[in-house]
Order: sequence, then C-alpha cells, then structure tokens
Amino acid sequence: MAELDFYLSDEQRELRRAVREFTSKEIVPIATECDAAERFPTHLFPKIGELGYIALGYPEELGGAAGTNLDYSILWEELAYGSAGIALGFYVHTAMACRALEHFGSESIRRDWLVPALRGEKIGGWAFAESGAGSDAGAVATRAIADGDDYILNGSKLFITNAPIADFLIVVASTNPEQRIKGLSLFMVESDRPGFRVAASMSKLGVRASEMGELAFEDCRVPAANMLGRVDRGFLDALRMLTLGRIASAATVVGLSRAALDATIKHANERVQFGQKIGSFQAVAFGIADMATQIDASRLMCHRAAIAADRGLPHSQEASMAKLFATEACTKIVERALHYNGAAGFMSESPIQRYYRDCKVFELGEGSSELQRNMIARELLG
Ligand SMILES: Cc1cc2nc3c(=O)[nH]c(=O)nc-3n(C[C@H](O)[C@H](O)[C@H](O)COP(=O)(O)OP(=O)(O)OC[C@H]3O[C@@H](n4cnc5c(N)ncnc54)[C@H](O)[C@@H]3O)c2cc1C
Repeated sequence: MAELDFYLSDEQRELRRAVREFTSKEIVPIATECDAAERFPTHLFPKIGELGYIALGYPEELGGAAGTNLDYSILWEELAYGSAGIALGFYVHTAMACRALEHFGSESIRRDWLVPALRGEKIGGWAFAESGAGSDAGAVATRAIADGDDYILNGSKLFITNAPIADFLIVVASTNPEQRIKGLSLFMVESDRPGFRVAASMSKLGVRASEMGELAFEDCRVPAANMLGRVDRGFLDALRMLTLGRIASAATVVGLSRAALDATIKHANERVQFGQKIGSFQAVAFGIADMATQIDASRLMCHRAAIAADRGLPHSQEASMAKLFATEACTKIVERALHYNGAAGFMSESPIQRYYRDCKVFELGEGSSELQRNMIARELLG
C-alpha cells in the first residue's frame, strides 16, 4: 500500500528505510525464537547503539544526534513491525531510563551512565509499578528515607521490563507518603548495589521477547547524588516523558498492526478454498480494507501528536487520542488477522498467534484506555 508520507522529510524517509532494513535483517529472523524462549536479544543493544537509534534526539555532547518525536514514531513503528516485545525492551531503555538520566541526572551520572547507555553498552529500566500501585501512581509504597548523604530504600516493584538484563533502574519511591503523587522522587539504582536484587523473573502472555522481573529493596543505601530531579517532585516532573510515551505506544501498535495486515494480505492472496483465493471473497476483502483503514487513521493520529509535540504545541489530548485509538484498533486488527489466517495462524510457528498475544498489553501500559478516556474527557468537559 502506498504510504501518504508527504509530510516526511528526506531524512525521515531515509530513517524509515534504514530501520526497516535493520528490522528485516536483525529482528524478523529471531522474533519467534526470542518469544518462545522469553529472552531479549541483548546483542542487539550495541548494534542499535552504533546505528544511533538510542541516541536519537539526545544532545550532541552526549553522543546524540538530531531527532524529533516524529523520528521516534518512525523508529518504534519499524522496530515493532519485527517484534513488539523487542521494541518494548528498546523503548523502556531509550525513552524512559535514558530520558530520565538526560533530564534529571547530574553531570557525573550523565557521563558515567547515560553516555554508555546511549551506545547500548549499559541497559536501563523504569521501575514504577508495585502490587498496590498500577494506574494509581499515588499508591507507590516503596520508601526512600534520608540518612546523612544517602537515602535508604525499602519496598518492592512488579512487572518491570528489562529488570533481568538491566545495569541500572530508574526507581520511583516515596519520600513523603502523606503527599502521595506529590511525594514521589526518582533514583538511579545500579543493579549491583547491595540491598537491591531482582527477586524473580516474570513470565507473561505476550511481548515475551522483552524480559520482566520483580524487584526487592531491603535497606538499599543509595547516595543522594543518585536522586534524579527534585525531591518529592521527581515523578511529577517526569510526567512529560510519559505523555510522549503515549505517542510511542501508538507508533508501536501501528507497526504491530501493519505486520498483521501484511501477513493477512499475503495469506488471502495464496490460500485457495472453493476454487478461489480467499481474498476474492468479499467478506474477507472488506475485513482487510477495514484493517488497512484503521492502520492509516492510527498512524495519522500518532504523527499528528508527534508533530504537535515537535512544534511545541499542546499535544496531551492528541497523544491520548492517538494511544487510545491505535491500541484499541490494533487489538481488533490482530483478531481479524488471526481469523482470516485460519488454523495456520493459530500454530505456534506462525507470527500471527504472537501478534494476537502481543497486542493486548498496549491497551493497559502507558495509561490504560480508561485513563486516556478520563484525560480526553477532562480536557473536553473542564
Ligand atoms: C508487559 C508489561 C510491561 C510492563 N512494564 C513495566 C515497566 O517497565 N515498568 C513499570 O513500572 N511498570 C510496567 N508494567 C506495569 C504497568 O505500569 C501497569 O500494568 C499499568 O500501570 C497498569 O496497572 P495495573 O496493571 O496494575 O492495572 P490497574 O491499575 O489495577 O487497572 C486494572 C483495570 O482497572 C481499570 N482502572 C484503573 N483505574 C481506573 C479509573 N480511575 N477509571 C477507570 N478504570 C480504571 C484499568 O483501566 C484496568 O482495566 C508493565 C506491565 C506489562 C503488562
């Protein structure tokens, strides 16, 4: 299908071509195997680091290169086309862990941790969720108590992407429990720090090529210099990153949806029943037309939000709408893909069943559909 990309610059078209080539060479061949083994291909980190994809949009003095939210949208779409799980592992490192170091890290943290992280030589994670804190950030119970020049952390985290492979984690901890969300601070915790451990790896339904773990902090002493940003306000200050994360989620599911569509078009043109290709049955053809239309709408909404962010225009509502629409559309698109691929798509070796397991989580993470509707409605209703 022709992509109406008149608003992309030559550089952005070239970025898309290059990431597409990387995905087809490095990700597509191992995607099924990584999913089955629940293993992230860590050897790809230095490779995407060398290509400059992690450092996109980071300052030049840190080894970064020019990059916009629209560039990012292109990157996540193309990586997720190969594997949403692998894209998720890269995303948490690049857009959450590294971003937090860039925005809030001291000179020495940026030099010693961010620079190698942008080269893909160190891997980061973002540790917010807990057994009692999911959508409700104010319920974070992990405590950080000041003690001389240090903070002492106690608590646990759940569902943390990259935890088993991470060299460092950005940990959201309460420095002022009475203030709930206004009492949350960010800390960079190195994974070999005494008192910190990955308590368990976690197995999941989808995005299995990204690794996940449970974290435990037991009197974990962290220097105050590892606090990122303002005391009690670190999490609130980081919310801007989370807004941009909604655009990235939308881009990721556009890539996943496109992979499902392409595989379905191929199958519909090859599979013959009743003496004709199944794509010639109007019921199947209309379904495929709807899938393509929803992908186009999702991408346009995602790119609109990205361009608004790049131009410094308000984009929170646009980001929520793009995330809401694209993630819910993706779940429908992938369900149709499985339907039209029949039993062949249901088999373990087919990527279609992987897409079916991968899509759902994007409706939950980065603010669930209900939270996006809440935000959109709040802006509309005041
Ligand atoms: C694959 C995967 C990767 C993840 N990676 C990370 C990571 O790297 N770091 C990290 O910190 N966390 C991570 N998480 C956890 C993620 O942050 C949470 O899943 C998310 O915050 C939602 O929280 P919850 O799952 O506890 O759901 P809950 O908050 O318990 O929500 C359950 C249901 O209730 C609904 N609900 C909640 N509040 C409202 C409301 N006010 N109005 C209406 N409906 C509501 C939700 O929409 C949802 O349908 C990951 C999760 C998954 C599945």
